Amino acid sequence: MKLSAYAALGATALSVTLAGVAVTSVAQAQDHKIESVAQAKPLPSVDMEAVVKAAQIDPRRPDNKLTPGAKASVLLVEQALRDRHLLDKKWVDGYFGTTTTAAYTKFQQSLGYKGLSANGLPGQASLAKLGAGRFKVTHVIAPGPRVKIGKFVVNTRTQKMLNEAQRLLHRKLTLDQGSYNPGGDPTSAGTHDGGGVVDINVKGMNAATRTSVARALRRVGFAAWVRSPQQGNWPWHIHATAINDTDLSVQAQHQIGDYYLGQNGLANRRPDDGPKVSPIRTWEEYLRAR
Ligand SMILES: [Zn+2]
Repeated sequence: MKLSAYAALGATALSVTLAGVAVTSVAQAQDHKIESVAQAKPLPSVDMEAVVKAAQIDPRRPDNKLTPGAKASVLLVEQALRDRHLLDKKWVDGYFGTTTTAAYTKFQQSLGYKGLSANGLPGQASLAKLGAGRFKVTHVIAPGPRVKIGKFVVNTRTQKMLNEAQRLLHRKLTLDQGSYNPGGDPTSAGTHDGGGVVDINVKGMNAATRTSVARALRRVGFAAWVRSPQQGNWPWHIHATAINDTDLSVQAQHQIGDYYLGQNGLANRRPDDGPKVSPIRTWEEYLRAR
């Protein structure tokens, strides 16, 4: 578009020159206009993957450390929240802690969002609205539409992650519980209320197999733990929460933060008892590294 418009302008300038009147000023004015468009500063970028990761980890940190790679993007989001009078300027610091999460929830509510859409985790739609005219959003995460696996509901991002884990394991996995299941299982403490969370059935698996399934789930981007009847009022199962799923319930977001911080994702916040994978990767990071 720009090139052809410029070519057309050149042709016009030329024909006017031939006519011989006040040509230069018109052509120069137009040239100047084109130059300023070309020199206009592009909008800065917000890396959505980095911001969402910080929004899960930072509220759980015992210290003020920043999530690596997230500072510049988090600052842009915080500045936009500040300019909307949702966040005091003293919290514009690159740390997506509980105050920033609360401010982001207020922003989502100001858009008329409710429930999971106002979970404090920047989603694709709200982030685009916050950034209008201020920043562009890169590394967009999409949970995708809801689909059924047997009788359980998950989103397509979770479905793809499970398919990849099954491929790595050469084993079919069966679910005990899906996502978007508010109040469906009181022992789950709200973690299954939103997207990205499944329970894997471990019937017939020995301890080594359970561990290898948890490891494969971790490799593709889940925070996954083998849960035993000693830990709660539940049978043996594997609980898996998809890192960076923007539909995560608040409780599930906390499990992701705890996973990064080396904890078990339970209310007692004991040390992680699952198979370590290093580095911890999100699904999108796994796909890029593959
Ligand atoms: Zn569970």
